[in-house]
Amino acid sequence: MTSTPTILRLDEATVARIAAGEVITRPARVVAELLDNALDAGAGRIDVTVDGDGTQRIRVADDGCGLSRADAQRAIERHATSKLPTAADPDLTSVSTLGFRGEALAAIADCATLELVTNDGRAIGTELRVKNGDVTVTSAGRPQGTTITVTDLFADRPARRESLAGQAAEFGRISELVARYTLARPEVRFSLTHNGNESLSTSGSGFQDSLLGVYNAETASRATTIEHSTTIDHDTSDGDLTVRGICCYPSVTRSTRDHVRVSVSGRPVTDTGLRQAVVRGYGSLIAGNRYPIAAIDVSPPDRTVDPNVHPAKQEVGLTARQAIEAGVETAVSEALTTADIRRTEDAATDLGTELQAVDRSDPFSQVRVIGPFRDLYVLCEDGDELLVVDQHAAHERVNYERLRATLAEEGVPTASIEPPETVSVSPAASAAAESHAELLAELGFDVVPFGGDTLRVAGLPAPLGRVADVDLLIETLDQLAGGHQPDDQRESLLADLACHPSLKAGDRLTTTEAEQLLDRLGECEQPFACPHGRPTVCSLDESTLAAGFERGSTRFR
Ligand code: ADP
Ligand code: MG
Repeated sequence: MTSTPTILRLDEATVARIAAGEVITRPARVVAELLDNALDAGAGRIDVTVDGDGTQRIRVADDGCGLSRADAQRAIERHATSKLPTAADPDLTSVSTLGFRGEALAAIADCATLELVTNDGRAIGTELRVKNGDVTVTSAGRPQGTTITVTDLFADRPARRESLAGQAAEFGRISELVARYTLARPEVRFSLTHNGNESLSTSGSGFQDSLLGVYNAETASRATTIEHSTTIDHDTSDGDLTVRGICCYPSVTRSTRDHVRVSVSGRPVTDTGLRQAVVRGYGSLIAGNRYPIAAIDVSPPDRTVDPNVHPAKQEVGLTARQAIEAGVETAVSEALTTADIRRTEDAATDLGTELQAVDRSDPFSQVRVIGPFRDLYVLCEDGDELLVVDQHAAHERVNYERLRATLAEEGVPTASIEPPETVSVSPAASAAAESHAELLAELGFDVVPFGGDTLRVAGLPAPLGRVADVDLLIETLDQLAGGHQPDDQRESLLADLACHPSLKAGDRLTTTEAEQLLDRLGECEQPFACPHGRPTVCSLDESTLAAGFERGSTRFR
């Protein structure tokens, strides 16, 4: 807890500098403002209670620094804030607290009944009630901290009331909001109660516990934490960037980006660029139409953040955006590279089990091949786990990484076709062949436009000793015509090349071939997913078998 700050009034010029806007548009905005205040007050524990759609009652109780009686009275005045260095010359670019506009409490009191019970550590606390502009002040017993209760929100604003979306949707927003704060401030204990039922609670012991509170034990057990520091330089100076957070393994995905949550110095934001950087960190581990579950907090050097950009404070201005996004991407991808992201069928529900980063030098060095299963899978023994390797997916991963390496050095080898074949393609594909001639050559295609929509194919890629067929060219041109980003394009073409049926290995593997496949897979940078994001290895724990066979223990005794 921090010492009680003294509240100062902002001068008019400062007020004008701050983009105010209308802050309180729906119940979730009230919750956001109250959470910001509680966190700014140094709370270690925050309990949120909501009744109905939030217009009936919202209460936020914290154990922060609390307010003196005089400060409590000033706190509800418009443009009163304790959060600037000096009121005379406020330096808005260095403010690190969540709120500093000094208008939230006043705005809430404008459109609801507000009750504030607070104690800054004295024997007697203060209770303040604001209703229709009338303020009553009394004494109240309360341990240090502040409880703000907002009732009858928008009672006299029918238009606002009508624009609300109903209890489920409004509470849904509040619950998502609390989830975001929970994941942005994993060291704070949060709880959320709706109509008397607790819908979320965390113990404030870190990211894993926050994830457990927001999702469930299974999701929390399939995640790895991130702790990454780097120095970034930008125009004025350089400073440290810290990226902390948690990201679920690529085997846990969702169909929307909503589960990628980002915060800047503990402030949740809906920043598209940062979220995209997180997704990029997963690279090819996740299929293009799927999204990860991740929560990332970025602490950039102070002077690179301008929190004033968005009136509801959801977006921030980052002056070193590129460097920061690159740092986020690296942090996520490094965390995933060192994590053991094998898909396990028996989700460890026990959180006591440590999710240690496994030394990835050769993940399969202890693995013994048992044999093939249905000519699709290789079964292996790995200590007390049964590994099932998808041989095609594994092969694709190996091919993909080799291709990437060759391409970086000399480009994919080409096998010439004698005599050259002519193929007719769509006008779009033909245009793509012309505009991407260089990339095609790099990928091992030897193609020349031959008038109209005909192409002459004199050579096809022959990576790893196998020659692709003309279908691959057609697919590649379609992709190029589809207009992906140039960088993505290269990656996704490589992935396609690696997976193309014409390049796939034969079906039944001998034990020696299976062992070689595992050796090669073990050398991969990212052995546990194929280039399109499907898993290459599933594992089944012996204890799962023991449970299935109703054995008391996994061993004979
Ligand atoms: P701002 O947060 O922008 O300063 P608010 O209207 O949200 O403006 O709050 C006004 C002032 O009231 C804050 O600056 C702070 O000093 C005080 N305050 C509000 N909520 C709390 C709280 N939960 N604990 C301690 N002080 C608070
Ligand atoms: Mg505030």
